[in-house]
Amino acid sequence: MPNMSLTKVKMAEQEPNVRNANFLEVAQGYTLEQAKEEAERCLNCKNAMCVQGCPVNVPIPEFIAKIREEDLAGAYKILSNANALPAVSGRVCPQETQCESKCIRGIKGEPVAIGRLERFVADWARENGIVNLDCAEANGHKVAVIGSGPAGLTCAGELARKGYDVTVFEALHVAGGVLSYGIPEFRLPKEIVNKEVENLVKMGVKIETNMVIGKVLSIDELIEEMGFEAVFIGSGAGLPMFAQIPGESLCGVYSANEYLTRINLMKAFRGADNCDTPVLESQSVAVIGGGNVAMDAARCAKRMGAKEVHIVYRRGEAELPARKEEVHHAMEEGIIFDFLTAPVSIEGDEKGRACKLHCVKMELGEPDASGRRRPIPVEGSDFAIEVDTVIPSLGTSPNPLIRSTTPGLDTNKKGCIVTGEDGSTSRAAVFAGGDASTGAATVILAMGAGKTAAASIDEYLKNK
Ligand SMILES: Cc1cc2nc3c(=O)[nH]c(=O)nc-3n(C[C@H](O)[C@H](O)[C@H](O)COP(=O)(O)OP(=O)(O)OC[C@H]3O[C@@H](n4cnc5c(N)ncnc54)[C@H](O)[C@@H]3O)c2cc1C
Repeated sequence: MPNMSLTKVKMAEQEPNVRNANFLEVAQGYTLEQAKEEAERCLNCKNAMCVQGCPVNVPIPEFIAKIREEDLAGAYKILSNANALPAVSGRVCPQETQCESKCIRGIKGEPVAIGRLERFVADWARENGIVNLDCAEANGHKVAVIGSGPAGLTCAGELARKGYDVTVFEALHVAGGVLSYGIPEFRLPKEIVNKEVENLVKMGVKIETNMVIGKVLSIDELIEEMGFEAVFIGSGAGLPMFAQIPGESLCGVYSANEYLTRINLMKAFRGADNCDTPVLESQSVAVIGGGNVAMDAARCAKRMGAKEVHIVYRRGEAELPARKEEVHHAMEEGIIFDFLTAPVSIEGDEKGRACKLHCVKMELGEPDASGRRRPIPVEGSDFAIEVDTVIPSLGTSPNPLIRSTTPGLDTNKKGCIVTGEDGSTSRAAVFAGGDASTGAATVILAMGAGKTAAASIDEYLKNK
């Protein structure tokens, strides 16, 4: 008999007032008993809608059935054949809008906790030293992948499984893309990202770090001089946008990407004496924006010791674009939400450091082109928040380097690489996917694009 409980088996979490002062992972994962109990909630539908909701088509009922049978090695094999980074996606994928949104159990109660089960299986495999190294025999074809975020790593892993000789070129000194430099340790421990990258290396993927394509080598050089027969561009969308208000060049103003990179990649959370790139010690921080990145920046600021951390967002709580779970966690951890508030300017003190964020209150008018109600300033409602740090978190776009050094590569008005559904671009032998072609999106969409492009590259090289 399936477990007909209407709610998911709860996953243990660190207490809010404890975790807001440390960088350890918030969510603690399932035990075997909890995983089996949750797995019993899956009805093993014949027409599994959850699989259709998964951009990398994980055979979800099959791997969950293996958990029920306590065949965790079997579950891992099924999962890892479809998903190159299961411990990552089990943690940060927005399952509520993907697989879990299609789960039939979600009609009358909570859907099956697919993400938590995915994480459980991937963690079990890692803790038990199990790696799925099943790869076809080497076929001698060389493929270059630009960028080692989820799009590039997935594309590389898929191609390695098909027997290709894959080299990933990464601009930074560490692989992982946003998984390493953006998403904080307390949501995605870097040890886990490193292990998933290591698994790809064990499958034969070569990773060259400190290689900025467009500066060190061009795409034309990769193809014409280095013998790569196809190239996948997964260079992401790492160029931050600012609020375009006076005072953004003051000391104490960081883009969210810079702030998070210093803390996560450069380990500023270990303290100024134990890292190469510290952040200022802040007492009062204002993060401008309401997306997932803003939540991450605010929660990091709190953990770095700030007494007050504000999220300044020009619309209301209902319009927040961040995942509900992230908002809930941020609220629990004591982040102050200033809704219907827009920044106007940043004031500096005599030393040139930000000291006040001037704001105006907003009200919501008619929906705009995005379908969301347009915020309108309320006359005479100006006020200021005392701050020493301001973190604009207003979205990102692709860095222009690749498009400016690759003749014939079509991009759109937002600077994103134009691709067909199969990941092909306007340049023969060049494929692209992830944030570089969609603009800032999600880990699982980037992984889906990497997987699609790998299949297209395989087709292209087989028919060449
Ligand atoms: C702080 C933050 C939190 C997020 N949280 C979530 C979340 O919880 N869930 C979720 O689903 N999504 C989340 N996202 C979005 C998600 O991380 C991205 O959509 C995803 O990482 C995109 O993957 P990608 O591989 O396309 O690009 P990226 O992850 O950006 O990787 C691109 C890589 O390419 C490298 N690169 C760029 N240019 C070059 C070049 N010229 N030569 C060589 N290498 C280059 C970059 O250094 C980078 O390593 C978050 C994003 C941020 C910034």
